[in-house]
Amino acid sequence: MSKTIAINAGSSSLKWQLFEMPEEKVIAKGIVERIGLKDSIFTIKYGEGQKYNDVLDINDHEFAIHMLLEKMTELHIIESFDEIEGAGHRIVAGGEFFKTSAKIDEEAIQKIEALAEFAPLHNPAEAKVIRVFEKLLPKTTNVAVFDTSFHTTMPAVNYLYSIPMEYYEKHKARKYGAHGTSHRYVSERAADMLGKPIEELKIVTCHLGNGASITAVDGGKSIDTSMGFTPLAGVTMGTRSGDIDASVLPYIMDKEGITDIKEMVNILNKKSGLLGISGISSDMREVESADTEEAKLAVEIFNNRVQKYIGSYVAAMNGVDAIVFTAGIGENAIETRRDIINGISWFGCEIDDEKNNVRGEERVISTDDSKVKVLLIPTDEEVMIARDVEELK
Ligand code: AMP
Repeated sequence: MSKTIAINAGSSSLKWQLFEMPEEKVIAKGIVERIGLKDSIFTIKYGEGQKYNDVLDINDHEFAIHMLLEKMTELHIIESFDEIEGAGHRIVAGGEFFKTSAKIDEEAIQKIEALAEFAPLHNPAEAKVIRVFEKLLPKTTNVAVFDTSFHTTMPAVNYLYSIPMEYYEKHKARKYGAHGTSHRYVSERAADMLGKPIEELKIVTCHLGNGASITAVDGGKSIDTSMGFTPLAGVTMGTRSGDIDASVLPYIMDKEGITDIKEMVNILNKKSGLLGISGISSDMREVESADTEEAKLAVEIFNNRVQKYIGSYVAAMNGVDAIVFTAGIGENAIETRRDIINGISWFGCEIDDEKNNVRGEERVISTDDSKVKVLLIPTDEEVMIARDVEELK
């Protein structure tokens, strides 16, 4: 029996879960928010519904991790730091280099830092957190788990853009995708639930959260995914536009007097999607409950883009056995799931309204007669990270 911590570090936050392995039992979890700002929020949930909360200024990730380890000891979640034998770190960009999760050594950290070009807000911060772990827990095995690894099985025909080949050859400009750990987890669970080897299944996984992506999983391998060089591409999201004709950018910039392309891309990342269309919110719950034409359109456009991606992946795989819904919207938005599936029933999928009337519970939500099974599977990226640590430790 040993303890493994799964770490998901953002630029100003640190989410974590502590597992007893190999049982995969969550013994504590928590989040540090507003790191580097005033009044940071520090939360731990543990035991039988116990909770520890604190609001104080936490200036950097090092202090956050130090405090986390101290508090876990104080609360007797661990008796000594040495008990944490493994730490798994979620890393956004692994480029073409990291095809699987990787045990951390100096070369791996330097590679993660060098990939900062692909994820400037994430990779440097994540590399820093690994260095802090190495310092504070020198005996712990650190493992990096990449959002992109699952998609490194995509064939060139799907990862290449139709632009001059030299941009790929010289600069590695191509599709990398994201949410790989989630797509991997739910596709494996889907195979378990259907009682079939994953090698024999064609699955479309729909990770629909504030960020959203659709993946074609053929025989257990990602063969195509909707996000691209960055998470900006694909379906309509909370604040991201998803796919767009690139020539609309200079047109809008010209009309609006925007001179910096980075500002324009920022608008596509932060002010578009559900928020941009509805003018109300990036949050699906708020958009769904708003009674305006624009809000209704935002929901329709969201569903439409998801349907079109599912359709194109059914075509790409020449068939489909299961469609999976996961993440905030996929797990909770009953009408969204129903409307998406009802609109593509021609493929042979039929929602069972009674079974679908549920939030966040793993189950089949299609009718018994449905040729294509529709599944609701709450994602669990943390357990996937802990499993990879266990395997590489
Ligand atoms: P995530 O990024 O996975 O945390 O998902 C966040 C998204 O899930 C937000 O757009 C939420 O509005 C949406 N969401 C959460 N609960 C519900 C719900 N009950 N109905 C509709 N959308 C929901």
